[in-house]
Amino acid sequence: MTNQRTLSIIKPDAVKKGVIGQILARFEAKGLKVAAIKKVYLNAQTAGEFYAEHKERPFFGELVDFMVSGPCYPLVLEGPNAIMANRELMGATNPTKAEAGTIRGDFAMPCTDLSANAVHGSDSEESANREISFFFSASELA
Ligand code: AMP
Repeated sequence: MTNQRTLSIIKPDAVKKGVIGQILARFEAKGLKVAAIKKVYLNAQTAGEFYAEHKERPFFGELVDFMVSGPCYPLVLEGPNAIMANRELMGATNPTKAEAGTIRGDFAMPCTDLSANAVHGSDSEESANREISFFFSASELA
């Protein structure tokens, strides 16, 4: 098992629902430590930069609008195989396809907007490094 760090974001829909604590408890129950966390108000520029890889996708504008609709909580998770462990905890991108017991299956339903799927999670080591440094400085991770 490799010790890894990954970036999660508790998205505005989950913040509005008041399930931050329940989501953090899922991470901790799986053996992932919250190494850093903060409250952030993204704007169109910062949300667009974070999701730059999706700039040409038809849902990009909707995703940016959603991410600026309220505060979100980026956080760094640390632990054995953290990137994959977090992806498993999150469930499928589309909450209607996410299994019960996953974060999206339990906290993003009913779902009318694919952007409102409760959490983001890095999909690779390269993404995790980029995404962690997007939100956190070295001193915040020390
Ligand atoms: P990621 O794949 O994690 O970089 O993030 C893409 C995000 O875009 C997903 O988490 C969804 O919230 C959002 N999204 C909105 N519409 C779609 C769509 N049609 N297909 C995939 N992702 C979508």
